[in-house]
Amino acid sequence: MGRMKYLITFLSTILIVCHLNAQELPKAKIVHKDKPAEISYPTGKIDHTKFSVTIIGSGNPQYNSHRSSPSALVQYNGTKFLVDMGNGTREQLEKLGYTRRNSPDALFLTHHHMDHNEEFIPMVHQKLMMPGEFLVAGPAPIKKMTDYVTEFYREDLQYRMKNKGQTFNEDKTNAIIKELQGDNSFSYKDVNISTTEVPHSIYTLSYRFDANGKSIVISGDLTYTPHLAKLAKGADILVLDCQVIRKGAKSKRPTNASRNKKGNSAHASIEEGARMAAEAGVKTLVITHLSNVNIDEVATKAKIAEQFKGTVILAQDFLTITCDGKVFMLQ
Ligand SMILES: [Zn+2]
Ligand SMILES: [Zn+2]
Repeated sequence: MGRMKYLITFLSTILIVCHLNAQELPKAKIVHKDKPAEISYPTGKIDHTKFSVTIIGSGNPQYNSHRSSPSALVQYNGTKFLVDMGNGTREQLEKLGYTRRNSPDALFLTHHHMDHNEEFIPMVHQKLMMPGEFLVAGPAPIKKMTDYVTEFYREDLQYRMKNKGQTFNEDKTNAIIKELQGDNSFSYKDVNISTTEVPHSIYTLSYRFDANGKSIVISGDLTYTPHLAKLAKGADILVLDCQVIRKGAKSKRPTNASRNKKGNSAHASIEEGARMAAEAGVKTLVITHLSNVNIDEVATKAKIAEQFKGTVILAQDFLTITCDGKVFMLQ
């Protein structure tokens, strides 16, 4: 009889558990503080004869379901330069069809903050397995980082390449490494690249790309500096780390909160951003490194227009801007 009582209790427990599982459980409420940008652009495809920049990630270190972490893809004549590769970069590239076989030819880093280099390791790993050279450039210790990937993943790379009937030679890889400091100028394929140091909370470089009489500048993270204005002089497009105005904001708190060694914001204020764009005399200013806030686009543009009279665009992931003035969402 005791056994029967035990069996009934056991079966009742199972029935109760099954019933509870079958019930509709309350759904977790996911709140996205940010909303997609209000301007919608037409879609388009890359014309390889045009010089263009595609925003791969327009966000910052905060998780944001609408914005990947900082990354920009500069393209000219079939050559692809990826500048910074924060969280989400590989997924974004795959969405655009930049798969392993069609991946960027050059990997550039502006600085070694996690939101800019988090996906450097998988990008290098991917390139080490592909035929043909690839260029890696950025501030120290970029050589150490690249060598580390080669060494740490040696066995993994050997295994994967053996599966493809190839061998991995760790002493002679296909990576060309350029460790950069301060002002530099060098060419890769038919594009000239220049750099300058800019102020941030750690050592940071800005990049200028020149091809066929046109130019694109990617600032990386920075505060005001005349060096950026000098580097970006007369550029067609300047992609700039710059703060924005929140919708309905009473607070004057910066939209990028990190601070430099002196305790000041480590990112350009809206006034500083407008000043650099105006001093450089660029045609189009693309504001990026955007926070997880509702942006008042009208107020932001009005504030910038007090100093800068050119075109102002708020970055969105996949937004593509060409040096001849076309703006579209890359498909
Ligand atoms: Zn950053
Ligand atoms: Zn940074």
